[in-house]
Amino acid sequence: MKIVFATNNTSKLKEVQALVHNSITLLSLKDIGCFEDIPETQNTIKDNAIQKATYIKETYGYDCFADDTGLEVTALHGAPGIYSARYAGEQRNAKDNMDKLLHELKAHSNREAQFKTVIALHYKGQFHTFTGICKGEITTKKKGTYGFGYDPIFKPKGYNKTFAEMDLELKNEIGHRGKAIRQLIYFLSKL
Ligand code: IMP
Repeated sequence: MKIVFATNNTSKLKEVQALVHNSITLLSLKDIGCFEDIPETQNTIKDNAIQKATYIKETYGYDCFADDTGLEVTALHGAPGIYSARYAGEQRNAKDNMDKLLHELKAHSNREAQFKTVIALHYKGQFHTFTGICKGEITTKKKGTYGFGYDPIFKPKGYNKTFAEMDLELKNEIGHRGKAIRQLIYFLSKL
């Protein structure tokens, strides 16, 4: 079965590929000749994921799943949330985003946060959504070199290291995207 994973992020593609059974062939946006920016203009993580999957289906004709992820920080009332990628500006720079978040949290003792991923699957004319949450806290300093995005400052609950200090296998097991993708894979295995 061939399904498009609507992403240009090679780290994410690698993460998901490691979890998908080899009877499912994932096509990247590059594989289908999509090099444009996919619209992402909704107000929630879920609606953004649905918007992206719908766009690919309507424009390129493939069944498709799209994910949208946000980091929600309790003391900041859920920010950066849907603005996680461009928290520090349109340059979408991970270091700038982390520096801004560490700065914003300086005055707060509550460092509780969660990553939320919603995957929207457009399959045979119907929508299905799968949500994965990973609770944890924002550290005071960056630690580790693995992963991407906010990984160096996010410490999942029950662990004494950041996502950026974990190998991909452990991050997939306990992380938001892994949780959402396993629900997707379970769904696909029942088809
Ligand atoms: P997206 O919706 O997956 O593009 O993610 C939005 C923002 O959250 C981007 O800035 C990503 O770098 C960040 N992000 C998404 N997933 C992760 C993750 O697993 N770890 C750290 N940051 C992430």
